[in-house]
Amino acid sequence: MSALNLTQNGDSSSPPPISAADDTRSALIFIGTGCSSAVPSAMCLIQPSESPCPVCSQALSIPPEKNPNYRCNTSLLIDYCRSDGKHSYVLIDAGKTFREQVLRWFTLYKIPRVDSIVLTHEHADAVLGLDDIRAIQPYSATNNIDPTPIYLTQFAMESLAIKFPYLVQKKMKEVQEVRRVAQLDWRIIEENYEKPFVASGLQFVPLPVMHGEDYICLGFLFGEKCRVAYISDVSRFIPSSEYVISKGGAGQLDLLILDTLYKNGSHNTHFCLPQTLDAVKRICPKRALLIGMTHEFDHHKDNKFLREWSQREGIPVQLAHDGLRVPTDL
Ligand SMILES: [Zn+2]
Ligand SMILES: [Zn+2]
Repeated sequence: MSALNLTQNGDSSSPPPISAADDTRSALIFIGTGCSSAVPSAMCLIQPSESPCPVCSQALSIPPEKNPNYRCNTSLLIDYCRSDGKHSYVLIDAGKTFREQVLRWFTLYKIPRVDSIVLTHEHADAVLGLDDIRAIQPYSATNNIDPTPIYLTQFAMESLAIKFPYLVQKKMKEVQEVRRVAQLDWRIIEENYEKPFVASGLQFVPLPVMHGEDYICLGFLFGEKCRVAYISDVSRFIPSSEYVISKGGAGQLDLLILDTLYKNGSHNTHFCLPQTLDAVKRICPKRALLIGMTHEFDHHKDNKFLREWSQREGIPVQLAHDGLRVPTDL
């Protein structure tokens, strides 16, 4: 059996149940694969044009769990099965739709908790769900629980201190009432591939990339048995980050998970499909799965196109979808 099984991608109407054998393996669970405004787009449903958007209008008749074109904010849950057989759960990003993603996918895949959180950057679609972390933490009216470690850059930390002062505040003021809030243990990481960090036993190499020319976002490289890179928000690769994950550089990836916003043209802060496929060719992973899609992408139709592209180029590439679970030996 290959170390990485992608055969579950995409074309089944609902995610398969987990077999007992899978309980001894790590897995990547794509709990969100959509853009910041998510799919369906609200505008397509409240102000439909004369020819309604075919992708968004599916949301009116197909339940989300059977609709691969229903996409929440991009987020990945890593179910890391350690050598002692115990599972750790590492969450990359918690965006605006985090609560819905928990209700849908944590229940289906029996995810009991999150052991650590890793943030790519501080935009709304990556962090606005942090308030709801309290919903998946043990109950304590006095906030007397172990805080969940959360790894982020200094820049993101400063932004979150403004967005969520009550999550960052260390000491209560004397007259302040106790209110139950998420308990987080903020840990600063560097925008430097030479400064890896370990979250819940799994090592992550930060991969700084440009997300617009004025902004650095982090991707991450993780996994020893299978090398996986996750890059959710990118408009241009920094050469050192690309080198670390390239077949012609530090070594071939088993899986590249990469941003793609629109099908055509280009965008100032994200890759669109032409730049995404160019990057896949340059980086040359064994496989690639795409995330961050708008309503321009129709899952089945565009995966058919990508299958043809894959055969031509010799690199399997598919769109991921919400709820996709990929067993992976990390
Ligand atoms: Zn639409
Ligand atoms: Zn962003």
